[in-house]
Amino acid sequence: MIQVSIFFKKGSFIEMNKVVNIQVDVCLFLPPLVDFLRNLFSRFLGLGSGEKVLDELTLDGVAQYMKSGKCKNILCMVGAGISTSAGIPDFRSPETGLYANLQKYNLPYPEAIFQMDYFKEHPEPFFALAKELYPGQFKPTICHYFMKLLKDKGLLRRCYTQNIDTLERVAGLEADDLIEAHGTFYTSHCFSFSCRKEYNLDWMKEKIFSDDIPKCEKCQSVVKPDIVFFGENLPDRFFTLMKTDFPQCDLLIIMGTSLQVQPFASLVSRVSKSCPRLLINMEKAGQSGIMDFGGGMDFDSDKAYRDVAYISTCDDGCLALADLLGWKVTHCACLWWELLLKYIFIYIVLFTDKITKCCTEKGETKTTAPTPQKDDKTKENLNNRRKIIKKIIQLKEI
Ligand SMILES: [Zn+2]
Repeated sequence: MIQVSIFFKKGSFIEMNKVVNIQVDVCLFLPPLVDFLRNLFSRFLGLGSGEKVLDELTLDGVAQYMKSGKCKNILCMVGAGISTSAGIPDFRSPETGLYANLQKYNLPYPEAIFQMDYFKEHPEPFFALAKELYPGQFKPTICHYFMKLLKDKGLLRRCYTQNIDTLERVAGLEADDLIEAHGTFYTSHCFSFSCRKEYNLDWMKEKIFSDDIPKCEKCQSVVKPDIVFFGENLPDRFFTLMKTDFPQCDLLIIMGTSLQVQPFASLVSRVSKSCPRLLINMEKAGQSGIMDFGGGMDFDSDKAYRDVAYISTCDDGCLALADLLGWKVTHCACLWWELLLKYIFIYIVLFTDKITKCCTEKGETKTTAPTPQKDDKTKENLNNRRKIIKKIIQLKEI
């Protein structure tokens, strides 16, 4: 481990001249460094230049490639942007992000809530936040269900997610389909290294919602959900499977991530030189630069031959792609039936006394993939209906 001291200047959102000690695990930087060297040598020696497999660098080009039958191993890399439409704040947005709204916890600086040293002394803010953002209170988005569609069609090799909200699992992806790079709430472990007793989601949920600090039944140490804090290693599964998944990948779909966090961001350079890469995001990301460790995205240069940027919300991008793939009709029918059933259900429960539990259970059992629909008016109607349903359910739960 290397001890690094960072001095933040006056004017940043962190308090003036505050010294923050961050433990940096060397292991986190080895994979990107190796990627950098590999890319550097292959460029220098002129090796491994890629073949152009997309007819055009557009979403339609990607759809045509997917329909050609040559694309059988799709990897998805996803970040907070795919869950914002579910109501989960991302971390870094200036006003609406999680870090900008932590004042009530009286933290020395926003990131402290996910730092091991701070958590050891003050676990309370983390568990208060965990209660606020607890998995199960939010529903998957169209983008999550699009990935489930890829799985159902036998095209999804793996989804690498930076999110800890477990919405991929709620949408129907299984543990084997997922690399939860920054950990998960699904399991928890005793904080004591000599104990490490495992606890499940239900146990942790009960503790968090009763406002108890979860303590180990064996040794009374604090129990922490298995999400990766600053200063912790990423799961072994991440490093093991990335070595086999990425060389086999024949389409990389990157959604809702600004590709700024290593070593996750460097994964984009691990696919073959011929593998097309589609970014669906609110802005371009991952482009070549001094710190990209080689193999960065190239959407616009004269040499661009495989990277496509589709600038939109993740949900809209997935809807547009699904539409181009002709996946609209079947799943659209499913979605409308699902919405209709929800409406009927909600109107029934409004006139009964047994409201809250029924609503929650019904909401959580949603497994059908929603759907690809291109028409803007239909999308708007759909979104409005979703908002109404969500509000009604929330009101009833209160
Ligand atoms: Zn213990």
